[in-house]
Amino acid sequence: MDNLKALDKEFIANTYGRFDLALVKGKGSLVYDENGKEYIDLSTGIAVNAFGIADDEWKQAVIDQLDCIQHTSNLYYSIPQVKLAKLLCERTGMKKVFFANSGAEANECAIKVARKYSSDKYGDDRNVIVTLVNSFHGRTITTLAATGQDVFHKSFGPFTGGFVYCPANDFETMKKLCEENNVCGIMMELVQGEGGVIALDKEFVKNVEALCKEKDYCMIIDEVQTGNGRSGNLYAFLEYGIKPDVVSTAKGLAGGLPMGACLIGEKCENTMGTSSHGSTFGGNPISAAAACSIISRIDDEMLAGVKKKSKLVIEKLSGLVLDDNFVPTGIAGNDDKAAFDELMKSYKPGIWPSVKPGIKCVSGMGLMLGILPDAAAKDVVIKCIENGVIPLTAHEKVRLLPALNIPDELLVKGLDILAKVCGELA
Ligand SMILES: *Cc1c(COP(=O)(O)O)cnc(C)c1O
Repeated sequence: MDNLKALDKEFIANTYGRFDLALVKGKGSLVYDENGKEYIDLSTGIAVNAFGIADDEWKQAVIDQLDCIQHTSNLYYSIPQVKLAKLLCERTGMKKVFFANSGAEANECAIKVARKYSSDKYGDDRNVIVTLVNSFHGRTITTLAATGQDVFHKSFGPFTGGFVYCPANDFETMKKLCEENNVCGIMMELVQGEGGVIALDKEFVKNVEALCKEKDYCMIIDEVQTGNGRSGNLYAFLEYGIKPDVVSTAKGLAGGLPMGACLIGEKCENTMGTSSHGSTFGGNPISAAAACSIISRIDDEMLAGVKKKSKLVIEKLSGLVLDDNFVPTGIAGNDDKAAFDELMKSYKPGIWPSVKPGIKCVSGMGLMLGILPDAAAKDVVIKCIENGVIPLTAHEKVRLLPALNIPDELLVKGLDILAKVCGELA
């Protein structure tokens, strides 16, 4: 490990603050470091390995495609691309797909679609996109500009213009920003991931949808992290019951291979003409074949499983008992109604208060959940790794992004260790 760290420091651009860990192999939700130490994986490479490590069906889909052809360029028709695009459209009601290689690139396409739609119809001046404070949309110069966190807006300017930021769930400010700017679109994550695993209020999202419809703005939903089953629905917008104009996704889409996609709805179906956008690797056959395998396996049964596991995590880490709609009905093993009522004063949908020592609350949706520990999130993660469990951080939260099919026993074992660590560090 010391040698690896020295070589990393010498030869790799120092852009990452790494944890003291080198994972070398695994199976499903168990991973191993170079000394053979075993870990329960609650992070899946930041929501990428949708079905864990080296999943058999996924692996076979990749191998089958490797045996055919690994790359053709987008000058020619592609069977795996067409198969995947059809699958995505049929499952979401969206009309067209542009394939990219990452989340940031999927968002670049989404931004281009919104601007071109508006430019074609209303002229070039109507080009501002409203995003949310505390959002995260990527690391390119433009997606950094779209990201509503000041820390990202240092040192790399000038940034792409035309972005303004609205606090999440503040519809009055949203309307005001739309009146004051020449807006063509509104872009947001339905569950802010990097920003702290916070689900947006349904009412706010519905209001934004209505506003976009009324003013002919493009509603762009960034599902890079929430997408591909993680929310408990194939895409979180389906859970919210809205019809966005553009949806971007990436991370878990190809189950561990690089792939991004920009799904385009009816309104902008014909916006992007020939030569308006492109990518050498975009829709690579191996990634596309892998994604076909992943998306076709995320069926109703799989999604019901994600919701069941979600409930398990929230109950385990909050100490609450939930009904089928995730509404708390009591404190596990405690009949004290007054104590429960007191606790529920801080409850709102998407944020569950916790009675577990060292844990303040649990938040999020599906298998994209965060806990607010008493201790510093990073210290919790370091101690968890020492104890054979790998969670992530997101601002002050500890973030959990386990595989969609993590066995319940492993999940519970990992959560017990996490809860114990939170209690010990509090
Ligand atoms: C990770 C993430 C991105 C960026 O994706 P990359 O593949 O790293 O470019 C964009 N938006 C959201 C919501 C993300 O979680």
